[in-house]
Amino acid sequence: MKRPYERVLLKLSGEILAGHQGFGLDLEAVAGICEEIAEVARSGVSVAMVVGGGNILRGQQAVQKGMERAQADTMGMLATVINALALQDALERLGVSTRVQTAVEMRQVAEPFIRRRAIRHLEKGRVVIFAAGTGSPYFSTDTAAALRASEIGVECLLKATKVDGIYDRDPALYPDARRLPRVTYQEALQMQLKIMDAAAFALCQENRIPIVVFDVLKQGNLRKLLLEGEQVGSLVE
Ligand code: UDP
Repeated sequence: MKRPYERVLLKLSGEILAGHQGFGLDLEAVAGICEEIAEVARSGVSVAMVVGGGNILRGQQAVQKGMERAQADTMGMLATVINALALQDALERLGVSTRVQTAVEMRQVAEPFIRRRAIRHLEKGRVVIFAAGTGSPYFSTDTAAALRASEIGVECLLKATKVDGIYDRDPALYPDARRLPRVTYQEALQMQLKIMDAAAFALCQENRIPIVVFDVLKQGNLRKLLLEGEQVGSLVE
């Protein structure tokens, strides 16, 4: 069967990399996710990734404790670089060729973000991991994901979460919450569904990038979605 997408951007939040411990890096969890990513990358799907940093530091939380916002956000961006290097290591140990590109220059550690070079890496079959968010404070890595997705021309943004899609109400609070397999951008706005922050959502809507929200912790979901063309999670388009 034909694969649904040739090039995708996978947004992985930091909390996914924390595993059950809920904080920091759980290298077993990282290895588990990377096995699934490696499988789709080896099958020829062009995979770019944006990684969050919430498992190490979230700007807003540090601000609540009195830290200056731009300073806290810079620390948050650096946290994403740590996660990106962990993902790179795990993927390369599985034999997948990768590049990390950061939005904050640190040449001894990773390449700077260069759009055309990122596209070239993808064309050569490398997984490109974008780190340091947008490089600017006051943004999120969801916004970075929407931005990079637009810049490198992916067919879909995959938002990896711990829930199996979008619900009409918070399923943790309302047991009768309904899962919505497919919604339009307009419906998502009208229903005030919290899929991504407003800046990220607006970028996707404006550039017509479909968003798939899915449970990345359920084994096989990435394969089903990218190699078998099965509907997994919820689609916003
Ligand atoms: N951040 C930032 N600019 C960006 C992306 C991220 O300042 O473009 C900072 C911000 O403080 C954020 C932290 O980095 O809280 C970690 O990113 P995020 O919270 O998006 O990570 P996730 O929730 O996906 O793990």
